[in-house]
Amino acid sequence: MANEMGQILTSVLTCEESLHKLRPMAEGLMERYRKAGETPPELMYVDRCCCRVHGVSSVEQLFSDWTDAGMLVRLDIFHWIHRFDAALRTDHHPKYALFKSSLSATVFAYNKDDMAQLVQAIRAGHPTSYASLSYSQIIEIHVSKSDMSHHVRRITVGVQETCARVNSAIDILKGSAGMDENQVHLFKEAATIDHIWGNQQKHLECIQDQPGRNMYTITKYVTRTSVRLPRYSTERGSNSLEGFHSFLPKMIPGPHSAAVSFQVYILAGIARLNSDRESASVKGQKGRKYKVYVSPLVYRLNQRCQELFGEVEETNFRRADWSGVSVLSIIRAFQCSCTLCSDQRDTSSRRR
Ligand SMILES: [Zn+2]
Repeated sequence: MANEMGQILTSVLTCEESLHKLRPMAEGLMERYRKAGETPPELMYVDRCCCRVHGVSSVEQLFSDWTDAGMLVRLDIFHWIHRFDAALRTDHHPKYALFKSSLSATVFAYNKDDMAQLVQAIRAGHPTSYASLSYSQIIEIHVSKSDMSHHVRRITVGVQETCARVNSAIDILKGSAGMDENQVHLFKEAATIDHIWGNQQKHLECIQDQPGRNMYTITKYVTRTSVRLPRYSTERGSNSLEGFHSFLPKMIPGPHSAAVSFQVYILAGIARLNSDRESASVKGQKGRKYKVYVSPLVYRLNQRCQELFGEVEETNFRRADWSGVSVLSIIRAFQCSCTLCSDQRDTSSRRR
């Protein structure tokens, strides 16, 4: 589980995702919030168990204290779109990417003012050669995917509109528009895509933004050919966790690791990741200058630089408050209760 900055709050390895197995994690996290005096989160993105088709969802049961306090549970849109893959020929079919991006377009609309400002910045770069191009030609030819994701905010368009747009996209691609040059169709079977779409319609409500809620923050301003553009980051979705899943194996230096060392590697890795995410979230997005994670060392470096040169070296470094917490107690707090770890602890205590 991660917060809106992408920092890992808790990471638990379970053999199944049942209520019984996940309850200690949920209760532990809610307890940490209570002890820290933090207000419950307003919004939680999940990849399953989002809606109340059969009564209260399992996520709402797990985090009942937070949902009672008004927290909303929403389905991550990337995961919703990914579910259509079951009906598609994904193996290098030329229409695959087209269908996936059209699904994204059925859910979102772009902010017109942001788009106009971006087009103005692009035109300003080549005023003479772009003068003959229309507004839509500039967007089509010169606006990159990266520009769109950084400088243009998106909003969800509502249940009715999304439903109509998905129907239309599927109907169009069911015809010849969905075939490649060998007349192989993108959809495995017409009945399969209808079945998947029928199942996913119940989640249309779960993927909509909360009305009136601002989903973006400005992280910094960039000047592009004399036009000042805000760079946005969004708190929508659970994309940051996908990055964590790829980072996770890199935390462990080798396949042969004892259970306790394994946990220490993971803890150290999460601490590094959280530190990077915290630095990246500071307005201005300067990030970290050095990849040194020894807090006392960076703290001393900043102190000396302040004394000698009047400015700190790592501007985004914030000293963690570890007062009263020993490393041992942190490791113990995270000690696993599985059979493997218990056996190892028993063996090592017998050796002593
Ligand atoms: Zn749902």
